[in-house]
Amino acid sequence: MPTASLLILIAVLLPPSALGILGEVVDERIYLTPYGEAGPLALRKLSDSLAVWVQPYTGLPTRTDPRATIFAARQLGVQRILNWDMGIAINPVLQRGQPVIVDDYIGWTSHQPDTFFSDAHTGLDINLGSVRSPFCPELGSAIQQLLPGLPEATVVGVDFLRRETRAEARMFRHWGADVLSYNLVPEVALAQEMKMCYTGLVTISGYAADRTQSESMGEVRASLSTTVQMLPTFVEMVTHMRRCECGV
Ligand SMILES: [Zn+2]
Repeated sequence: MPTASLLILIAVLLPPSALGILGEVVDERIYLTPYGEAGPLALRKLSDSLAVWVQPYTGLPTRTDPRATIFAARQLGVQRILNWDMGIAINPVLQRGQPVIVDDYIGWTSHQPDTFFSDAHTGLDINLGSVRSPFCPELGSAIQQLLPGLPEATVVGVDFLRRETRAEARMFRHWGADVLSYNLVPEVALAQEMKMCYTGLVTISGYAADRTQSESMGEVRASLSTTVQMLPTFVEMVTHMRRCECGV
């Protein structure tokens, strides 16, 4: 059975059959970590030499402790993570259905631990001097090759269980955020602590509270479908990728 070094966290709404494009499920696990359960994670086999872990991922109140997600991935031998989320457009240039590659983030989460060091379980060595990009530039380029013209965006990661207010939307824009996301942060910081390679892809699903809320015309569904089509090639590219800036 092929081993998989890539995990795709799917925080977008897809028809149940859509992931069939990544091959049949050959293994399924719920992983017990010191931070609670993670999963189910499905191992999908694309060919005799190609496989990928896939985990449905949402920002519901019952969501997995982000530490459990990253810890489990590490234990399974995952080295690289693609987190595919839906997000709210803060930048008025961005339209519904537009996918963006995440370039940087602002952490605005209040409930979720963003470090493993509040516990003594991992014994990892934090490098406080590191300011390398939290999102892997090489994985980002791979996605941009497959979805040409994809803009880069700064995400503000939140974990409140409501929509942003108009005043918050203006504040986030003033800070330089382009997109608001519920599922990318603090996973990105935890992955960095674990010395894993991490990339974020966000499909715009709606407009910030301070903008006109236009009717959806099916743009999101069409865009998600286009992005799903590129995933098998992405898995292949990443599996054969040489060392990247993250050191993986
Ligand atoms: Zn990398």
